[in-house]
Amino acid sequence: MSAECIFCKIVRGEIPSKKIYEDEDVFAFHDIRPVAPVHFLIVPKQHIPSMYEANMVHHQALGKMLALAGGLAQQEGADEGFRTIINTGRVGHQEVYHVHMHVLGGPEPLGPMIVRKQRGA
Ligand code: AMP
Ligand code: ZN
Repeated sequence: MSAECIFCKIVRGEIPSKKIYEDEDVFAFHDIRPVAPVHFLIVPKQHIPSMYEANMVHHQALGKMLALAGGLAQQEGADEGFRTIINTGRVGHQEVYHVHMHVLGGPEPLGPMIVRKQRGA
């Protein structure tokens, strides 16, 4: 647990969130600035700053994040596909340093994962 971490505060209920799932290991809630019609986050309740710090000690929560994604995506209306993203570090454009998995869904296709740079651009 980190006193200052925004996602630890959400897990503890100190900051409001639109919760969609909770158990002893993980917490899922809507992203506050959605970039797709379905956009929620699944986080481990334990404070892990990034995937660099994740290891086998955390396998139960990390496994649950993946195992829950499809069911929750379907529940939220993404029943024709979705995308999971875990941003890590500076290069991965991580903004919040508490591990979180984005789950993004349509109905419209999301487009390519990363826009290819033009050759020579
Ligand atoms: P990332 O770049 O992967 O670290 O993304 C962090 C995500 O957390 C962004 O999509 C934010 O919109 C989202 N976010 C930040 N603060 C909150 C909050 N209080 N409730 C829900 N989502 C949040
Ligand atoms: Zn935290």
